[in-house]
Amino acid sequence: MSALDAIDTTTAATSSAPPSPTSAAELCAPSAHFTPTANIATPGAFAKPTQCKCMAALTEGGALQPFTITRRALKDTDVAIQIKYAGVCHSDIHQARGEWSKGGIFPMVTGHEVGGVVVAVGDQVTKFNVGDMVGVGCMVDACRTCKHCRSGNEQYCKGGGAVFTYGDNTNKYLHSSEAEEETGAVTNGGYSESMVVYEGFVCSIPENLDLAAATPLLCAGVTTYSPLIHYGLRPHHKLAVVGLGGLGHMGVKLGIAMGAEVTVVSRGTAKQSDSKRLGAHHFLDSTDVSAMQEAADTFDFVLDTVAANHDVGALLDLLTLDGKCVMVGIPPDAVPIAAPKLIMGRKTLAGSLIGGIKETQEMLDFCGRHNIVADIELIRADEVNEAWERAIASDVKYRFVIDTATL
Ligand code: NAP
Ligand code: ZN
Ligand code: ZN
Repeated sequence: MSALDAIDTTTAATSSAPPSPTSAAELCAPSAHFTPTANIATPGAFAKPTQCKCMAALTEGGALQPFTITRRALKDTDVAIQIKYAGVCHSDIHQARGEWSKGGIFPMVTGHEVGGVVVAVGDQVTKFNVGDMVGVGCMVDACRTCKHCRSGNEQYCKGGGAVFTYGDNTNKYLHSSEAEEETGAVTNGGYSESMVVYEGFVCSIPENLDLAAATPLLCAGVTTYSPLIHYGLRPHHKLAVVGLGGLGHMGVKLGIAMGAEVTVVSRGTAKQSDSKRLGAHHFLDSTDVSAMQEAADTFDFVLDTVAANHDVGALLDLLTLDGKCVMVGIPPDAVPIAAPKLIMGRKTLAGSLIGGIKETQEMLDFCGRHNIVADIELIRADEVNEAWERAIASDVKYRFVIDTATL
C-alpha cells in the first residue's frame, strides 16, 4: 500500500466513449493498402514470426505511411499482444522528425502508449493470461541486472541502457536479441496491430478503466505521476502544471487526486474552461505579464510539460522558498538559466524520465482506484499525420489515440 492510498480525494474520470468492439475477422480484413496479415488472434499465430500492419515514417521528417513489419516469434517469457489502441505522444513527433538528434533508425514505427489484449503467452510466463487487458509503455527491456534496473529504475539502466519501445536496437542484450532477418534488429512501436514483449515490461490495466482512455497512462500518466511522487508533492502543496497537453492534463488529474491545489499555466486563455472542467483550482495565463508577476513566489511545485523552447527562468520565478520545478517536457534546445534564479529562494530545478515498470504498475493501480483516465480523441490510422500537426499546434483535447483496428 502506497502513501497515496491514504489520500481520499478522487477525481472524476472523463473519456470519450470507447468504439464498438472489433472482431478478429474485421481486424484482419484486407485494407486498401495492405495484404492481409496473419490472424493474430488465432491460437498459435505467434509460434513463428508474424506479419503486422503498422504506420511508419520511412524517412526522417517524412509523413507516416501504411507499412508492414514482422514481429518476432514468441519466446518462453514473452507475451503477444493484440494492440487495440496506441496513444500519440509528442515524443513520437520529436523522434520521427529528428528534433532531439539526427540519425534515428528508419523506417520508424512510433508509439509508446500501447493498450491491448494478450493473445498468446510463452511457456514460462507467470504474470499474464490470454485475454488480459495490458499496456506497454516506453521500454520493452533493459539489462535487468545493473543497480538501477534492480531498484526498479529501468529507464535509467546503466548496463547498456533501456531498450526503448521504438527506434532502438533489439540486440543490445542477449536476453532481448532477435533474429536480425526477422526484425532488422530494431524495435517497432505501437502504431501497429500487434507486439511481442518480454513479460517483465508489460503492465496490467485495471479492469474498471476504459482501455482506449487508459492507454495514454502508459507514457503521459507515468511521466507525470513519477516526479510528483519522487519529488514529494504533498496534499497541502500548490502545484503549477505548465502546458495543458497530453502530459499536462494528466499532471492536473494526478495532482488533484494527490490532494494538491492545482493551477494550470497555459499560453492565452483558450484552455481556461477545459482546465476548470478537468478540476484545476486556478488558471494562469503565461502570456499575461502582470498575472505572472502576481503569481511569483507562490508555488511549491512546478511541473513543466512544455514541448517547445521556452523561458524556464520565468517558471522558476513562480516558485516559493524551497520550491521545485521539474522538467518533463523535452524542448529541442538547451535551456539557459541564470544562477540567481535558483539561488534566490533555494530553488530546485530537476528532471524526470517516464517511470520504472513497478512504478508504472503502481500508477495504473492508483488510476484504477481513483478512476483516472486520459481525455482522448479517438482517430483512425489514416488521420495520424493530421493529428501530429494538430498536436504541434497545441490543438488536442488532450490525447490522440489511434484505433488500431483501422490500420
Ligand atoms: P503536447 O500534448 O503537445 O503538449 C505540450 C504542451 O506544451 C502544449 O499543449 C502547450 O501547452 C505547450 N506548448 C507547446 N508549444 C509551446 C511553446 N512554444 N511555448 C510554450 N508552451 C508550449 O505534448 P506531450 O505529449 O504532452 O509532451 C510534452 C513534452 O514532454 C514533449 O516535449 C515530450 O517529448 C515530452 N515527454 C517527456 C517524457 C519524459 O519522460 N520526460 C515523456 C513523454 C513526453 P499550452 O497550449 O497550454 O500552452
Ligand atoms: Zn511519450
Ligand atoms: Zn540495467
